[in-house]
Amino acid sequence: MASPQQLTDRSGSNRMAAQPEKKKPLQFLDLKAQFASIREDVLKAVEGVFESQHFILGKEVQLLEQEIASFVGVPEAVGCASGSDALYLSLLALHIGRDDEVITTPFTFVATAGAIARTGAKPVFVDIDPVTYNIDASQIEGAITGKTRAIIPVHLFGLAADLDPILTIANRHNVAVVEDAAQAIGATYGGRQVGSLGLCGCFSFFPSKNLGCAGDGGLITTTDAKIADELRLLRAHGSRKKYQYEILGTNSRLDALHAAILRVKLPHLQGWAEKRSEHAELYKTLFAAAGLTNIFVLPSTPEGRTHVYNQFVIRVPRREELRAFLDSEGIPTDVYYPAPLHVQPAFSYLGYEHGSFPEAEKASKEVLALPVYPELSRQDQERVVNTISDFYSSNPA
Ligand SMILES: *Cc1c(COP(=O)(O)O)cnc(C)c1O
Repeated sequence: MASPQQLTDRSGSNRMAAQPEKKKPLQFLDLKAQFASIREDVLKAVEGVFESQHFILGKEVQLLEQEIASFVGVPEAVGCASGSDALYLSLLALHIGRDDEVITTPFTFVATAGAIARTGAKPVFVDIDPVTYNIDASQIEGAITGKTRAIIPVHLFGLAADLDPILTIANRHNVAVVEDAAQAIGATYGGRQVGSLGLCGCFSFFPSKNLGCAGDGGLITTTDAKIADELRLLRAHGSRKKYQYEILGTNSRLDALHAAILRVKLPHLQGWAEKRSEHAELYKTLFAAAGLTNIFVLPSTPEGRTHVYNQFVIRVPRREELRAFLDSEGIPTDVYYPAPLHVQPAFSYLGYEHGSFPEAEKASKEVLALPVYPELSRQDQERVVNTISDFYSSNPA
């Protein structure tokens, strides 16, 4: 409601001058800016698919599969309908199902454990390493039973999980490693691309991933030609020849339109990842200069790995207050993930409780993702850091 003073203050000019102008809100991710930079090529690729009227699999999907296989450094890649299906189909190709167990992290997107459960197998969670947010390799062996068939490490936020010890444990117990690389295309571990170290690597082309298509899409990389062959059957109704069904499959194909768009974007991926990584370094420098590094924890990259920063995630005290303040200042943030999977109703049947995985639970209360997309400007980043700094200096603990 207007105060009497406002009603008499006709010009309002003094009041306006006294109040700082509200700045334009930042974006959390600016896909319009990305599109503007590749518009002609994307539209040409889309036009090509329309001219061909070949929408299902075909040449574009085949070429994309070859290009990604060579990018990741594996002989085989199989496109499919989503990252979720990439995980699901990989497990099916390994003949994992009822009575089997698959080990993964509770601090991930729902699809990782969902894919395990969809096969009929039981997801078995192992807590995370609080520094990398990835599965704690040192706790995996304790979770292995006679029923364990696979381990799914998730390369969360764009940083590879600690694959060496995971592969050693997997070999010792004769179980497969299926990498959930949905957030990490282009990240490396010991000089090798993620998706090339396990038996299968699962990728997502959801628009917000580092390599996003124009809807849902996914892909599986594998070093094993027989698995690749089975994946190609599984994604297309178990059929190699029209109306002949060798195995029970499903409809989980990557569309030609998506493949054509992804082929335009793939050559830019490395450059975009470098931008993300530069922004991460600048955040670290600015936060240190603002004296904030003793208040909260910045992401860190262990020796021998490269981080592609699908998300730039910090751990902060009083997260909800900070988030609300940033929001009121036009700075969008996000939380990946506000609750670990073992406390979600969908997984209550597994019998875990609050307290089962303390590090995952602690992280879910403290993590905060800041904008880190390639087109973000230095001024934007300075504004983010200054606003966070304002919050902590005007709200001392
Ligand atoms: C995005 C994501 C998936 C699922 O990918 P969709 O393409 O959205 O189905 C799986 N795992 C992780 C870690 C993800 O971030």
